Amino acid sequence: MNTITALSAFKDNYIWLISDLERKAAICIDPGDAMPVIEALTDIDCRLAAILITHHHWDHTNGLKHLKEYFDVPVYGPAIGQLPGVTHPCSDGDKVEIPELGLAFKVMQIPGHTLDHIAFYGDKRLFCGDTLFAAGCGRLFEGTAQNMVDSLASIAKLPKKTKIYPAHEYTITNLRFAETVEPSNIDIPIRLEKMHALRQESKPTLPVPLEDELATNPFLRIGEPKVKASICKHANEKLTEPAQLFSCLRRWKDAFI
Ligand SMILES: [Zn+2]
Repeated sequence: MNTITALSAFKDNYIWLISDLERKAAICIDPGDAMPVIEALTDIDCRLAAILITHHHWDHTNGLKHLKEYFDVPVYGPAIGQLPGVTHPCSDGDKVEIPELGLAFKVMQIPGHTLDHIAFYGDKRLFCGDTLFAAGCGRLFEGTAQNMVDSLASIAKLPKKTKIYPAHEYTITNLRFAETVEPSNIDIPIRLEKMHALRQESKPTLPVPLEDELATNPFLRIGEPKVKASICKHANEKLTEPAQLFSCLRRWKDAFI
């Protein structure tokens, strides 16, 4: 049976570790730092079977070189950009199979935060790096607003029970922003209270079910009349196109403290 663990790295990163204690094998996703992975593998007495990378940012990839010195394993990462260390370049629709753990993922191309960004979807779980966060989404560093609108739309179409595994702990700030955008949405303060309780015990707020995101994440709700009206009021102009609405919401969030 697979167990999924959030390994903390840097200020607020999570490196996801999927392990099978019976088979004594594990994979990790986005190892920005090698040490938390090596320590966790030692603790549970598992060998690394593969590494998955969602995009090229250093806080998702810096541990790659060090890990490869310990484990000569396949590295699945974006085909775009030819990231050093990636042995198996992946594009939209590709299948990634990890027989050591009985895992299979479908690759989704989800540009916006970066142009190379991919996600791994399998067994109703989505490892989505910095594209979708709990109650938020990644900043636009390389892609366009339309890229991100399309990427988030493809995630929103997944089964509602899909568990979302983002790579950062940003949930509390994101929910505070969500409350500002949509003060009449009763689901937001309810979720905020639950997430606060987890953080007070120093537990991750992740993963999150997609249905919670659809109910509270303003970036997935730009088509909702109340969210649309709130964005237009903030922008002080009538916006209708999803990319315009997204763009304005993203700028609003970028300036939100
Ligand atoms: Zn990033």
